[in-house]
Amino acid sequence: MKSKSEFDYRQLLEGIYYDILPYSGDGEQADYIPALARVNPDQFGMCLKLVDGREFSVRQADTPFSIQSISKVFALAMAMSLKGESIWKRVGKEPSGTAFNSLVQLESERGFPRNPFINAGAIVIADVLLSSLPDADSSFLSFVRSICGNTSVSYDFEVAQSERASGFLNAAIANLLKHHGRISNDIEEVLGFYFRICSVNMSCRDLARAFLAFTNVKPFEYGGFSLTSSQIKRLNAVMQTCGFYDEAGEFSYLVGLPGKSGVGGGIVADCPGRYSVAVWSPRLNGKGNSVLGMKALELLTTRTEESIF
Ligand code: GLU
Repeated sequence: MKSKSEFDYRQLLEGIYYDILPYSGDGEQADYIPALARVNPDQFGMCLKLVDGREFSVRQADTPFSIQSISKVFALAMAMSLKGESIWKRVGKEPSGTAFNSLVQLESERGFPRNPFINAGAIVIADVLLSSLPDADSSFLSFVRSICGNTSVSYDFEVAQSERASGFLNAAIANLLKHHGRISNDIEEVLGFYFRICSVNMSCRDLARAFLAFTNVKPFEYGGFSLTSSQIKRLNAVMQTCGFYDEAGEFSYLVGLPGKSGVGGGIVADCPGRYSVAVWSPRLNGKGNSVLGMKALELLTTRTEESIF
């Protein structure tokens, strides 16, 4: 086994790409958001960023895509910065064991979302941000632009609009939350903001750069929002247990990193103290995680022998 400093990461990523090619036709891209159904599903990108600053990428690592639920990590980081521990009075931190957009559990638990990464939890976090910030839309963009170092990152209003027009389930979730007194702002306002934060376009390179902040080398402050090392540790814990839909156990087992996926086919993860990595390919497995993304990350942690376990 080579020492980490002499590891040829460029060759490693190329090798991973060729080894996952046989699976490139597996899975289906998300089509419940009409604008996402128009994306070419046969794309793949990956970017790895080490804490020493080196960066390696393959294929479409610079192609922006819809980050969707990955945005929930950024929103949670902002809410933790603003509210500290009290944020957990608004949302839980347990894996849900149900689909990310399930109504059943939310109803039986009187509208208290299991965690901030299922849609109900993220809608509550959107409500918290709207209540705490004079201009939540611009604060969210400032934070994301600052943490990834790319000022051109923006909302994709066509995707947000497309999701609003077909987002009946999310509207039902927001109504149930409102019924139980879990959100204070107007439902339309909360949903509009939630859909906009999901619509943000970023590339694998942007995401790997952003997630370097979560490798917990030191406390951070971006765009006016700061997290302590202890808060970053806890954010990673929530990603580890709740970041991959109803497949967080499988992801832990195969990959062994905290992270978050989105229905746009992106997955971003970090190895605290070592590296951050983002991968994107639109075809999803039955649980909503990118098929090639999962395989690529499994190969990455197997071949580098670097995961949190
Ligand atoms: N905007 C998407 C939704 O609410 C996000 C889903 C996801 O990426 O998990 O359905």
